[in-house]
Formats: sequence, C-alpha cells, structure tokens
Amino acid sequence: MKDHELSVIIVGAGQAGIAMSYHLLQAKINHIILERDTPFHSWRNQRWDSFRLVTQNWQNQLPGCNFTHNHRNAFLSKAGLLQSLEESLKKNKFPIRYPTEVTQISRTAHGSFKVQTQGEVFYSSAIVIATGSFSRPHFPFDRTQFPKRIIQLHSAEYRNPRSLPDGAILVVGGGQSGFQITKELLESRKEVLFSFGQCNWLPRTYRGRDILEWLDLVGIVDLPTDQFPNPREARFITSPVICESAGGFRTLIKDGVKVLGRLARIQEQVMHFDHGLKKSFAESDLFYFRATHLIDQYIKRHRLKATQKEPLKTALLRSVAMPQQAATQLECNKISTLVWATGFREDYSFVRLPVFDSQGQPLVKRGITNVGGCYFLGLHRLYNFKSGSLYGVGDDAEYLLPHIVSHLKAGQLTGNSLANHPM
Ligand SMILES: Cc1cc2nc3c(=O)[nH]c(=O)nc-3n(C[C@H](O)[C@H](O)[C@H](O)COP(=O)(O)OP(=O)(O)OC[C@H]3O[C@@H](n4cnc5c(N)ncnc54)[C@H](O)[C@@H]3O)c2cc1C
Repeated sequence: MKDHELSVIIVGAGQAGIAMSYHLLQAKINHIILERDTPFHSWRNQRWDSFRLVTQNWQNQLPGCNFTHNHRNAFLSKAGLLQSLEESLKKNKFPIRYPTEVTQISRTAHGSFKVQTQGEVFYSSAIVIATGSFSRPHFPFDRTQFPKRIIQLHSAEYRNPRSLPDGAILVVGGGQSGFQITKELLESRKEVLFSFGQCNWLPRTYRGRDILEWLDLVGIVDLPTDQFPNPREARFITSPVICESAGGFRTLIKDGVKVLGRLARIQEQVMHFDHGLKKSFAESDLFYFRATHLIDQYIKRHRLKATQKEPLKTALLRSVAMPQQAATQLECNKISTLVWATGFREDYSFVRLPVFDSQGQPLVKRGITNVGGCYFLGLHRLYNFKSGSLYGVGDDAEYLLPHIVSHLKAGQLTGNSLANHPM
C-alpha cells in the first residue's frame, strides 16, 4: 500500500469538487481530488442525449470555467456544457486522480483524516466531501416485483426514444426529468403513460421574462434555508418543474399522455395508483398563483416595465381538461418499458465520522461540520436555493476557503499536523 500526505483531500470531481479545487489552487494550498469515475461523471454519463440545462446561461457561474455562451438567456445542451467543463479542466490543471473510489474516511488519533481507496491510503489535515446529493439512482419500489419482460431503466440510464423497444412506456416520477422524458417520448410518437403524485410546475416565461430570472430578482434563490420557518423541510422542497408551455402538465394531457396518480403498489401483476391527481393539480395551481403573485408584487413595488399580467392566466389553467377519471389500475402486460424518473439519493456510507443526524443527513452550517477540518460542498440547498447548482456552488466553495485556511494554520500552531499521523 502506498501512503500520501496532503493538506486537503476533495472527494468527487463534479462541479462542487472542481469549484473547491479552484479556490485552493488560487490560495496555493496543496490538495488532490479523488474521483471514482471520470470528472463531471454525472453530467457526462447520467443525462439523456437531448438534455439541456433548465437554468439559463447567465446562471452558469462555475469558477475557472468560461462557458461558451451564444446567448445570455439560452440553455446549454449536454454537449455544450461538457465542452466548457472539459476546457476548464485543461486550462486549470486541477489535480484530479481518477478512477479512484474513496472507500473509507476516518480520523486518526492525531486529528488528521485517513482516506482509503482500493490499494492506497491518503492522509490530510482537511477533507471536503463533494460527492453531491445525487450519488445513486433512487428506486422507491422493489423492481423484482415487475415481470422480467418489462424493460426497467432509471432516468440516469435513459438515452433517447430510439433505444426503447416498441410498446407503451410508463414514466414514473413527476419531477423535471420525468416531465422532459415524457415529453420527448410523446414527440417521438411513443405511447406514454405518466405516473406522478406532487406536480408543482411553473411556466418558462412570465410577464416577458424567464421565470428563473424573476425568482432571482425577487430574492427567493438567495434566501438562506436556515431562515425558512422549517429549515430542514426547506432543504427538501422539490423544485418546481419548469414547463415551456403555460399549460404545464395539463398540456401533456391535451397532447395525449395518459396520466396516472402516484404508483402506490403492485399486486399480482397489476399496478395500483393513488386517486390524488385532482388534489395534486389544485396544489400545483396554488403554487403557481403564489409564485406569480410574488412576482407581480415585485414588479409593482419596483415599477418595472413588464408585459401585462397574462390575462388568460386563470382561464388557461382551467381550460385543459382535468384528469377527472384517471385510471387507478394498470396491468403490467399493457407496458413494455418502465422509466424510473424517481430521483437520486446521496451516499455517505464511506464517511466514518460523527457528522450526521439520526436520518443520515450531514450536520452542517454552510458546509462546516462539528468535526474540525471536515466540510461538505454541493449539497442540494446546503446554504440557499442556489447551492446545489452551477449558479451557487462557487459561492459556497469561496465561503469555505478561509475556514479551511484557518484550520490548516491552527493545526500548524498546535503541532497537530500530518507529521504526527500513525503510519
Ligand atoms: C437531472 C438533473 C438535472 C439538473 N439540471 C440542472 C440545471 O439545469 N442547472 C443546474 O445548475 N443544476 C442542475 N442540476 C443540479 C446539479 O447542478 C447537478 O446535479 C450537478 O451534477 C451537481 O454537482 P456535484 O458536483 O454537487 O455532484 P456530482 O455531479 O454528482 O459529482 C459528484 C462526483 O463525486 C463522485 N463520487 C461519488 N462518490 C465517490 C466516492 N466514494 N469516491 C470518489 N468519488 C465519488 C461521483 O462520481 C461524481 O463525479 C441537475 C441535476 C439533475 C439530477
């Protein structure tokens, strides 16, 4: 086994790990990034072919990366995003070692961190865990309950409609991925069924501007999550689906998608769905009205030039038929493919440090834990609504830098340095 000593080890070479490395390089702090797959693995390998960022170009603000923006308000394709990220790797020479999976992080008796991989051991004074909130695909069901004949894949594995067999496709999960995949399948003339529970959505544009630009102006995205009445809940609020057409989920119904409620159970080869679709749509309308009301107020307060309130707003929402009698059962033999667009979960099983709450969530204040020298970065809503995105992760990395520097300095003063670690 080889041993290595460093000031800082970053685990994960996604945008969070890279943002941290950028600031450490500027401060000339010696460090390494350990990545189990390839840099930017999730953008590269876990998104479908036609994927485009839902955030606008002006929100791409990763330090050290010049995004090739043809237009401030356009949306980068997967290929365009990867090209910019690749160029940043070349330009900045980030110290990435891959493929190198971290299998265990623990603390030595002398306060340094012991980082184990297959065949190597690293020691460091500080550690930044940047493995993200989306480490492993999440399946809310035991997939073995479905007949073997049905092709099952997670949204992380879905590539394009052509790669799916003939026959009806069931997409489960009403987030941004589920919505976009359903839309793409429908456009390619596939027969699609779409199962979801909650379905908050917002239109892409509102009163002449992109909705995300409005939410930014209103200040929601900058509001620290610990200032919400229930900070823990705020971290887990699902982001609304941004829909190109004002009718949102209703447009899908109008265009021929058969919607089903939340998949509740499967029994004797029959899938059963909740009845709650009508309630979901009503809640989603309320969400829409609340968000657009905030924007209307902001426009009024600041006397901004904006197009008039969409006069048809209410009518439009009500115009498309509600799924009054959505089916609550579906026989498995009616579908050929099941796409699980049911999200991801974090995976910290390799972290053997007392930095988690009873539910396994990192106990952090903007990334700082109670274990001196141990930091988290890139978590969904770590500090505010920007934290887990290309827009906000750079700010959170910059915030951590002085804390890391003072931790390293304190270690030198107390002699609690790497020189003391037991080999
Ligand atoms: C479908 C989808 C669409 C999104 N769209 C947008 C968007 O439009 N705009 C936007 O700004 N954000 C978007 N996001 C959110 C976010 O920007 C991305 O999820 C982004 O990839 C998060 O970056 P990260 O560095 O925090 O984590 P990741 O990109 O997941 O990077 C973590 C890295 O850690 C590595 N790793 C994990 N475990 C280990 C280990 N034990 N040892 C070593 N390495 C390890 C992984 O291989 C990975 O490369 C989207 C997210 C999803 C899921």
